[in-house]
Amino acid sequence: MIYRKLGKTDLEVSNIGFGCMRLPHKEHFYQIDEAEASKMFDYAIDHGINYFDLAYSFHSKNKNLGGNAEPFVGKYLAERGNREDMVIQTKLPGWLVNKREDMDKFLDLQLERLQTDYIDVYMLHSLKIDFWNKLYGMDVLEFLDSILEDGRVKYVGFSFHDDLDVFFSIMDSYDKWDVILTQVNYLDEDYKSGLGGLEFVGMAGLGNVIMEPLRGGSLITNIPDEVQALWDTADKKRTPVEWALEYLWDKPLVTSVFSGMSNMEQVKENIAIAENCQPDCMSEHDRQILKDVAQVYKSREEIPCTGCRYCMPCHNRVDIPHCFKQYNIAKSLNYIDKTAAPYFWLVNKDERADSCTFCGECNIQCPQGIDIPAEMEKVFDFFHEESQY
Ligand code: SF4
Ligand code: SF4
Repeated sequence: MIYRKLGKTDLEVSNIGFGCMRLPHKEHFYQIDEAEASKMFDYAIDHGINYFDLAYSFHSKNKNLGGNAEPFVGKYLAERGNREDMVIQTKLPGWLVNKREDMDKFLDLQLERLQTDYIDVYMLHSLKIDFWNKLYGMDVLEFLDSILEDGRVKYVGFSFHDDLDVFFSIMDSYDKWDVILTQVNYLDEDYKSGLGGLEFVGMAGLGNVIMEPLRGGSLITNIPDEVQALWDTADKKRTPVEWALEYLWDKPLVTSVFSGMSNMEQVKENIAIAENCQPDCMSEHDRQILKDVAQVYKSREEIPCTGCRYCMPCHNRVDIPHCFKQYNIAKSLNYIDKTAAPYFWLVNKDERADSCTFCGECNIQCPQGIDIPAEMEKVFDFFHEESQY
């Protein structure tokens, strides 16, 4: 296994991390198959994985309830007695916090669920501008200072889902961030904090950890013929998973990549790939292939929205460019089961196409001549109900 130093912390973590949001489960997603998940953890640890990513909500019935991933890991730690083998990262569910005391309440509950007296890396979960403003107004920075001081947590950070200017603002608000979790993959270089955020974190010397390297599986499914033809010209033949993971490990600024693993086959495949990937593991030719692949996907997008935001704000709060972006990605990847989820996670409920009244007031503003209400109707029809996914 290859280990990389986690920023300025004293931790060395495996370049592949175990994401615990898609563990094997029984009939329902929230019922973890604990016997199988334990075998996967055993194999992962025996083969060098030491970094595990959790959240209060992973494997829950709904995101307002605590999920079953933390209690499962707590039982696993208690049975194996191997706390020192695992760097545990988990997160504060900011959307459930209503006052400063709630932050301590959740952290103490999470320590209990995990059957441990410290958490290695504690993150503010899924920061967007609204969560950040809410938590900031409740003295979250004082909370972070206090938990570092009393030892319940060794290092702090955040996971992020908003634009680059919000990212810079949060980074500048606190001088004790240690580890930052963002989504980067070869299609999302310019999306949200993207490569700009990755470079900023790396230059600041912080731990730079990556989620959704496979875009929830959509980068390895329904591969278009044009993409396969490009891959066939590569110096080294790779599977779709190898292309996605090596793209990240090729970058010296990336510390670790979390993959949500659902079965033993995936654990073995990820470890086998990870063991051979140092920074600069790709040739210039292969890097260019991935840029060309990204262009192929881009050319399959249906709405020519540039994200300029001249149409904003909408008086009904619809986030027009964000809706169009998620729709374009979903259509270009042609995998609705996996691509609908980010639309529902990342676009706030009242900013989705459902809020559009098709008034047409925004049309006059669009330099691309997009018929916004007509396209918004397509977005609505395409994603429809969250409960479908
Ligand atoms: S057409 Fe829809 S998106 Fe445009 S201004 Fe009216 S409500 Fe907002
Ligand atoms: S004005 Fe047009 S191109 Fe710009 S964000 Fe709005 S829809 Fe997209």
